Parts: sequence; structure tokens; C-alpha cells
Amino acid sequence: MFFASDNGSPVPPEVLAALARANEGYARGYGADEIMAHVTARLREIFEAPEAAVFLVPTGTTANALALATFCPPWGAVFCHTHAHVAEDECGAPEFYTAGAKLVLVPGAHGKMTPETLAPVLARTGAGGVHSVQKGILTLTNVTEAGTVYTPAEIAALSSMAREAGIPVHLDGARFANALVATASSPAGMTWKAGVDVLSFGGTKNGLMGVEAVVIFDPAKAWEFELRRKRAGHLFSKHRYLSAQMEAYLAEGLWLRLAMHANRMGGLVAEKVAALPGARLLHPAQANIVFADWPEGRHGPARAAGAVYYDMPAEPRREAARLVASWCTTEADVEALIAALTP
Ligand SMILES: *Cc1c(COP(=O)(O)O)cnc(C)c1O
Repeated sequence: MFFASDNGSPVPPEVLAALARANEGYARGYGADEIMAHVTARLREIFEAPEAAVFLVPTGTTANALALATFCPPWGAVFCHTHAHVAEDECGAPEFYTAGAKLVLVPGAHGKMTPETLAPVLARTGAGGVHSVQKGILTLTNVTEAGTVYTPAEIAALSSMAREAGIPVHLDGARFANALVATASSPAGMTWKAGVDVLSFGGTKNGLMGVEAVVIFDPAKAWEFELRRKRAGHLFSKHRYLSAQMEAYLAEGLWLRLAMHANRMGGLVAEKVAALPGARLLHPAQANIVFADWPEGRHGPARAAGAVYYDMPAEPRREAARLVASWCTTEADVEALIAALTP
């Protein structure tokens, strides 16, 4: 009954087997390993982007912060949703790595900004000339922090506003695979075809031991990213072990199968939690993350029965929770959770 986060899941056997295979003999360090060449080729193929630059980093925070730093000057504004991971969960890493760019929050229901909420923030930023931070970069998150998803058309609409404002677009895809399968989109359709310049391509939340890729669609930015990654201390010496995880993730559609399962289990949690007496979903559950509330009195018994999840702030006399399904959540786990939450 582990629903605290999808990072609590173990590593799929295919990935551990790939690590064991990679553990034979010698390999060049610092990303010059042969497996990394396959990873780059495979991601270029998956994204229909033969020129794209691909880098591996150990955490999503690193991926986001270094991507933003590469595309946004220190005097820039990083436009992000009010509850974006970059704003609430990265301990100031984006500000640190950009050398002080300012996060400018864009509101929007259910974790999503819209053209209507973005427009006024874009319009007023930089209006004070030299006295203001300048428009720097737009960053979107898909799957969002509220468990909703942007469709490629929604991303394209926001990106075109960024383009008109003369700034690039970053996508935080810590759960990119979950967003893709939720919208039945293509990787290219969700990214460069929708105006995305740089992607944090998640692996860890979807089963890897600890690897994210940064995919840069404009190869002219690649060298700067490489320098920033090294300078930040995030260029792995024994890099083949990162490469091997990502290669296994991309082989035979494993990344999509894992996400499909997580989303299916998330859908099951949403359906069954919503049916509990007096319960409501707080956001549309469109991938593997479910936010719900219910009349108070269930956290205690559910915890006592072994359910693990995060409490969320709730209205008086109610309790709220965030419940996350992962690649290895089973229907039996969901049934046990529902039994534990049933009055
Ligand atoms: C988990 C997560 C990240 C990356 O977090 P790390 O803990 O640094 O790996 C980034 N963005 C979102 C939306 C996330 O959920």
C-alpha cells in the first residue's frame, strides 16, 4: 500500500539486468561509452530529431536547473506555474544554476497555466526597462504537479506566446512517459513540434534507479550545457551505468509500458477513491497521481492498516491526500488501500 510517490518503487528487472550486462569489462568514462552512443541515437529516433543533443544527469532537479541555466540569462524571468516543482521542490536550484534568474509564478487551475493566465504575466514582465528582470524562459510541467496533463495543442498554444515574446520553452517531463500515454501523443508532437526547445526527460519516477535525460533540440546549445553539467559536478565518471539504465528503459517500449501500467493503476485509484462515502477528487486524475479528500477520520485507520501516502491541506472536518501509483502498483495494492480508507 505504498502510494507516497512513484519514486518509492523498486527498479524493473530489465534495468537491473542491463546494469549487470554493462558491468563487464572496460568502458570509456564521462559519456564516451558505447552504450551512450546507442542512447543518443535511440532518443533522436524516438523524438524524430536527428540533430538533438542528449545528456544524462542523475536527478530531475539537475536536469531542470541546468536546462534553465542554459536557456535563460541571470537577469531573466523563468515563467512557471505557481506550484511548479522548480518553484516549490528544488531548494532554489534553478535560481542558483541560472546565477539568479527570477521565478515568476503563473496561476492556473489544476496545475496548468492557460493562455489567459500567462498573457498578463508575460505582458508586465520587463515593462520597467532596465529596472526589471527581462522575459527569460517559459517552463511547463507534464504530467503537472496536480496530476493533470497538457495536450500537445495546449503546449503549442502556450509556446507560441513564448515565441512571440522572444523566449524559449522548457518542458519538465519528470513524468513525460505518463503524459505521453495519457494523451496518446507522439514524443515529437509533445515537444519540438509544439514549440519545446529543451526537455527534462524523466526516468526515475517511472522506474529507473536514478537517471534523467536532457534533450536539447537546438544543437547549438549543446556545448554550453556540457560545460555547465561538468562545472556543476554532474558529469559522471563511470557514466556507462547511467547509459545502461536509459538504454534498457528505451528498449522495446519499456518506458511506455511502465507508464501505461502506472496510469492504469492511477485511474483505478481515482475511480475507487471517488466512490468512497463523501469523497471527492480535487483535480481531474489524468495520469498516475490522484488528489482526493473525504470526511475526517480516515487517515488514522488507513495508516494503522499500513497505507502510505502524503496528507494534503484540507478544509475543516475533511482530510485530503495525494496518492501516487507506480509501474509496480498492483490491483491488490489498490484494493487494500480502498479497504483501509473505507469507513
Ligand atoms: C520528481 C520531480 C522532479 C525531479 O526531482 P528530483 O527529486 O530532483 O529527481 C522534477 N519535476 C517534477 C514535476 C517531479 O515530480
